[in-house]
Amino acid sequence: MCGIVGYIGKRDAAPILMEGLHRLEYRGYDSAGIAVVDRAGGLRLAKCKGRVRELEKLLPQRLRGSAGIAHTRWATHGEPSDRNAHPHCDAGSRIAVIHNGIIENASALRARLEAAGVCFRSDTDTEILAHLIAAMPEAALDAAVRAALRMVTGTYGLAVLDAARPDAIVVARNGSPVVLGIGEREMFLASDPAALVRHTRNVVYLDDGEMALVRADGFETSTLDGGATVKTPSTISWTNEAFDKGDFPHFMKKEIAEQPEAVRRTLSGRLELRFQTTHLGGIELAAHELLEIRRIKILGCGSAYIAGCVGAHLIEQLARVPAHAEPASEFRYRNPVVERDTLYIAVSQSGETFDTLAAVQEIKRKGGRVLGIVNVVGSTIGRECGRGIYLHAGPEVAVVSTKTFTCTSVAFALFAIQLGRIRDLSTAHGGRLLDALAALPEQIERIIAREAEIVRLAEKFIGGEHVFFVGRSAGHAVAMEGALKLKEVSYLHAEACSAAELKHGPLALITPETPTIVVLPRDDLFHKNVSTIEEIRARQGPVFVVTHPGEPPAGVEGAFDVPTSEPELDPLLLNIPLQLLAYHVALQRSCDIDKPRNLAKSVTVE
Ligand code: GLU
Repeated sequence: MCGIVGYIGKRDAAPILMEGLHRLEYRGYDSAGIAVVDRAGGLRLAKCKGRVRELEKLLPQRLRGSAGIAHTRWATHGEPSDRNAHPHCDAGSRIAVIHNGIIENASALRARLEAAGVCFRSDTDTEILAHLIAAMPEAALDAAVRAALRMVTGTYGLAVLDAARPDAIVVARNGSPVVLGIGEREMFLASDPAALVRHTRNVVYLDDGEMALVRADGFETSTLDGGATVKTPSTISWTNEAFDKGDFPHFMKKEIAEQPEAVRRTLSGRLELRFQTTHLGGIELAAHELLEIRRIKILGCGSAYIAGCVGAHLIEQLARVPAHAEPASEFRYRNPVVERDTLYIAVSQSGETFDTLAAVQEIKRKGGRVLGIVNVVGSTIGRECGRGIYLHAGPEVAVVSTKTFTCTSVAFALFAIQLGRIRDLSTAHGGRLLDALAALPEQIERIIAREAEIVRLAEKFIGGEHVFFVGRSAGHAVAMEGALKLKEVSYLHAEACSAAELKHGPLALITPETPTIVVLPRDDLFHKNVSTIEEIRARQGPVFVVTHPGEPPAGVEGAFDVPTSEPELDPLLLNIPLQLLAYHVALQRSCDIDKPRNLAKSVTVE
């Protein structure tokens, strides 16, 4: 969530660090800070509550010094405030620490340090680390950090600067990402490659339990126990421009508009027309192994979980293998039964989602097989799973997920077809699905081109307080994602409900002031959904539909139709107008669309 940036080299660190912080702004944060060792060997520190531009105002015109660290915080211990912003220092202002994560034994360590006379200047768990490191007798900074980390339990991605030893920065990772960027006689470090892609695309990802001593001319990695490790650098494929808004007013709008191209990339090289099937090389499962799968369990959080619901439906329909999606956070804490003939699929845009990563580790510990569906190449979940499907959707910067929801659903369709075609999915049906997949980008373009209709629809929702989203079967997953998107960006209370469940409780809340959006594909369940609309209309509830071309049911106050596809792929297109609706309701309500209240991209804490 929160971000880390660091630089050591021949240039002044401050401008590089500030630019890096701007790159990380999308992750969501409440305060920011920077520490640089100046030419005289003193620690220069600035930090404050609020946005990176507030921090910029605090900085002196010229902040010289070629080693520094900077942070954006998402508070877990202590309110967002100037004093709780990172970096945190020891009493002598020699050691500066920035930290993502949570030190779980913070209160015990704090009590012990206070009893020994240490005066704390913040309420954070992080400050403990600065005092512990400063108190270590070890001569080398990495040894002192290692000794301090032996005393703490919890999660961290951290960077440590020592004004007395400014020739190196020490970083360590346990549960929160840290990536090193290799330059020409200069090194960069960050919690997210977005912060360093402008300077280098040659990177090294630390593993959990690993630390690094980073100097201008290179780095050494080791385990927290002190054993040296060997790392092979990899290349980031995303360009710096991919992180720019360009002419779009918001990243969310840009990413909705990028969907045709993103879907093309997810599909690229994966349609095998000769056999009317798909081919996903990264799953590394031979046909006989795929045949042995008896069940599929999909794990994710937020939109990734909902895309998993779409995926489970696709797999059951096309491959006739029982499939079920579950929030990763629930799975990991219920001592899950991990079965040999179940295939587990972990879904995460960033590949760093803490709860999903923990679920993956639990499955692996119990001997289960797990694939990742991930957007960020080289991310932790991608590496931990070792095999899976990369979305190739390009960077998603807006906090709310749009294009990666769509591309994840496409990835599931590809997987379901491959699995289905070695089972009972016919050549003819496979062929129709490939044609339908190939047509998706152009169909999405056609929906986006009708944005003006959505703007008018959005006007009907801006004054209200509650919205219901209703759907059946895979349409229920579309309703869930529509509701999640609307609540995330517009702060309207939006609730998704399975159409049949409505009458078992939520119908009590339907009033003339409570609109319902019904996901209404013209499929086998069309008439069932029309009955649900009747039930809502009978209680004077206004009804809007996302549907297919044709006369909408009587009494409906607004309809948006999407092009028809193969019925199994309908959810992918029905979701697009709901993304645009969320965007335009939020815009008309003047919400901070790319950085919604209280939320953050890439949730790397529990
Ligand atoms: N636990 C630390 C704090 O509250 C770090 C939070 C973060 O990850 O930004 O300051």
